[in-house]
Amino acid sequence: MAKKRALISGISGQDGAYLAQFLIKKGYEVFGGERQNASGSLWRLEELGIDRAVKVIPFELLEENNINEVIKNGKFNEIYNLAAQSFVGSSYATPIFTTNVNALGVTRILEAVRNYSRDTRFYQASTSEMYGNSVTKIQNENTDFQPTSPYAISKLYAHWMVNLYREAYNIFCCSGILFNHESPLRGKEFVTKKIISDLARVKFNLIPYVKLGNIYAKRDWGYSKDYVGAMWKMMQQKKPDDYVISSGATNTVKSFVNKAAKEFDLDLTWKGRGINEKAFDKKSKKLIIKIDKKYFRPTEVNYLFGDSKKAKKILKWHPKTNLDELIRIMCEYELSKFG
Ligand code: NDP
Ligand code: GDP
Repeated sequence: MAKKRALISGISGQDGAYLAQFLIKKGYEVFGGERQNASGSLWRLEELGIDRAVKVIPFELLEENNINEVIKNGKFNEIYNLAAQSFVGSSYATPIFTTNVNALGVTRILEAVRNYSRDTRFYQASTSEMYGNSVTKIQNENTDFQPTSPYAISKLYAHWMVNLYREAYNIFCCSGILFNHESPLRGKEFVTKKIISDLARVKFNLIPYVKLGNIYAKRDWGYSKDYVGAMWKMMQQKKPDDYVISSGATNTVKSFVNKAAKEFDLDLTWKGRGINEKAFDKKSKKLIIKIDKKYFRPTEVNYLFGDSKKAKKILKWHPKTNLDELIRIMCEYELSKFG
């Protein structure tokens, strides 16, 4: 039987790497879409030892001609759209670029599927950020969206477009509403990777301390390697639908810091309030964490906590890695880099 063909956009990103690894194991022929003027660095694929197994092709979300050509000729069974300007923090400085890539980019792909490849199944990387500051204590597929950043708004546009193409044109397209998911391959701009990478640098005296913004935001953090399996399961269903994928716990950034610090033999005690809050190592009395205004956002999502009952019931998907295990995996990786 011919191998199934999958295109993953955003192949150089965290999820692109883990999903490619997952699909290769399933016997797929995997094509990885890379943006124009990409740095060319596929270090995440190299890290997983799959850089030779993925066929990397140009796939630029801003370029309609490129998207049309690739989808017309690709004969893909499945397309996973993971490409995005994915950092909330940058989206305030780049609202137009963020919208063009994250919102219109998805419409470009959906139009290409509708016009040239109607049997191709399409997965969209939606996000818990779309809930913004929704007032519910736990968020599921029926919770109202209250997006509070250019990133979240651009993703919500795409989310509704996916719904529209499903309803209006009967195209198999689905959105995974994924809560934050992390890994050793997470970008350094995101808070989990930043905390762990900077704590390692403090430990090895490369920087004096770690600077953070709002440490009271709560996030539902899971492991990227677990979450890509849910993307695939959504695409194997009889009917396309949207699913929340989450870990089953929510924690503050401060609690993440305390847990990660322990992995570096640091036992933190916190002093002061607001912008003056600081954390010190109990044993050495050394300053470890300082708050820096620079990392606060114009608007904040204070609380995210996902309810993935529907995914558990229909997809039979369950998160395998809890936060303590995830932190250990990320810290061990970071320490291994210091040999
Ligand atoms: P990353 O930021 O690691 O990866 C994003 C990818 O998109 C990179 O390969 C990037 O390329 C690529 N990209 C950016 N702009 C373009 C463009 N114009 N054309 C083509 N490709 C482009 O994100 P993740 O892997 O963590 O996330 C995957 C997807 O899931 C994203 O859409 C993200 O918004 C979404 N998501 C992620 C969550 C998370 O917690 N990780 C939570 C919920 C949703 P380059 O390397 O060249 O910059
Ligand atoms: P997000 O949930 O997609 O915005 O993921 P991030 O990892 O970027 O941020 C998670 C939370 O950590 C947000 O509430 C941020 O405001 C908060 N945070 C606190 N300090 C920092 C920091 O220094 N960098 C980042 N990226 N986030 C921080």
